[in-house]
Amino acid sequence: MNREYEIVIIGGGPAGLSAGLYTSRARLSSLLIERGVVGGQIADAELVENYPGFVEGISGFEIGQLMHQQATKYGLNTIIAEVTGLELKEETKVVKTTEGNFTTKAVIIASGSERHKLGTPGEEKFTGKGISYCATCDAPFFKEKPVAVVGGGDAAITEALHLTKFASRVIVIHRRDQLRASRILQEKALDEPKIEFLWNTVVEEIEGKDKVKRLRLRQVVTGEKSTLEVSGVFIAIGLKPNTDYLKGVLSLDKAGYIITNEKMETEIPGIFATGDIRLNSARQAITAAGDGATAAIYAEKFISQ
Ligand code: NAP
Repeated sequence: MNREYEIVIIGGGPAGLSAGLYTSRARLSSLLIERGVVGGQIADAELVENYPGFVEGISGFEIGQLMHQQATKYGLNTIIAEVTGLELKEETKVVKTTEGNFTTKAVIIASGSERHKLGTPGEEKFTGKGISYCATCDAPFFKEKPVAVVGGGDAAITEALHLTKFASRVIVIHRRDQLRASRILQEKALDEPKIEFLWNTVVEEIEGKDKVKRLRLRQVVTGEKSTLEVSGVFIAIGLKPNTDYLKGVLSLDKAGYIITNEKMETEIPGIFATGDIRLNSARQAITAAGDGATAAIYAEKFISQ
């Protein structure tokens, strides 16, 4: 296995795969390191309707595979491994992984973020089958159907408001009796007739056959148990950027996101960051893909200088 590359890309979601397509087509020797399945978060989406060019939509898994095939056709190398650290020597950078070390001139970080999971029974089984972590992506699948949103932060309330354009009812389930979301979002949600709140309530189980059918709930103050029939559940209880391996290498904001400029450059020359891992990313496959292309173009310029 080649251990030296001009570019190493960390993460195989739309940001990393687009970066890989551009660097490979630019004839730069490129390695993409992915720890799971290429496609990243989008690989879990049953149908993606907001990626341009697919009139009837496309499954998230398929779009990930197609992006990977396209980049591989131009010479992108891929390994499945977990990145454990980065070492920055003068000219070369060393990417440490569970499959050994790789040296490179430039690194494009595209390792994304993960939605926090609820951890309740049924969550894994019904992810993509009624359970979603992205209302922008999946709300149109729930036209005139009742849905629940779990969480009380900005993300949960933004998702609930967006869902009112599609769903018949939107029930926000929050573990406390006060929202964490900003006041302006709270006011909008409280004024919205389609939104109902279940306070001091947690989801104990998500049930169904092929798709989500009902939630088993518990009121945490009274201990009372109940069920709620819904077709969809949007879980919005926070995000965690996958930047643990970068601690001490790059400065991260307090939530762990990477700050870049419009060229996707970080504070360290030759290290670029793209997609959901960037502070203020729009967190969409298409914006991540755009970031990846931008990073690749400026990484090529960096190498040629
Ligand atoms: P967040 O602000 O951390 O809120 C997470 C919410 O989930 C909290 O209400 C929390 O409850 C609840 N929660 C956490 N763990 C839970 C669990 N295990 N079970 C049930 N509920 C749980 O996260 P976020 O809403 O994803 O927002 C992340 C960041 O992005 C924030 O800085 C936010 O301002 C920003 N953002 C902004 C916008 C916007 O401005 N439109 C939209 C989206 C996100 P507690 O309140 O009890 O802790």
